[in-house]
Amino acid sequence: MKESSEEFALAFISAGSIWVECEFCQRVHFADDPSAGDFEEGELEALRASAEEKPDEFCGHDGSAYWSIWEGKALVLGCPCGADVKLEREVWDARDWITNYLVARATVEADDAAETKRRADAAAKAIREAK
Ligand SMILES: [Zn+2]
Ligand SMILES: [Zn+2]
Repeated sequence: MKESSEEFALAFISAGSIWVECEFCQRVHFADDPSAGDFEEGELEALRASAEEKPDEFCGHDGSAYWSIWEGKALVLGCPCGADVKLEREVWDARDWITNYLVARATVEADDAAETKRRADAAAKAIREAK
C-alpha cells in the first residue's frame, strides 16, 4: 500500500491547517492557496519561496494539510515519508490483539461504571431515608 486508505484518514486524522510540519520527517506541508485560510502578511509567499528552493522540505497542497498527533508528534496525511502508511499498516497488522484489548477494556470500564452507579444510587437512597 503506497497511500493510507480513506478509512484510515476518516478515523485517524483530526485536524486541517494552512501549514503543518510533519514531525516524523520535518517536512512542512502548506496550503498553496491564499483562500485556504488566514495567512499572515507574506507568509504564503515565504512558504512558496521555500518550496521553490527546497522542494524536498516543503510541500504545497491544493487545500489544507491534514494531520493528527501520533506518539506525541504531528503526523501528516500523505506525507512522502509514509508515516501515515506505516501507522495504518501497524494498526491493521495488530488488529486482532487491538480488538481483543478494546473489548476487554470496554467491558471492565462498563463494569466499573455500573458499580459506581450502584453505589451512587445506594448513597442517594440513604440520604433520602435520613431526612
Ligand atoms: Zn513526513
Ligand atoms: Zn504535503
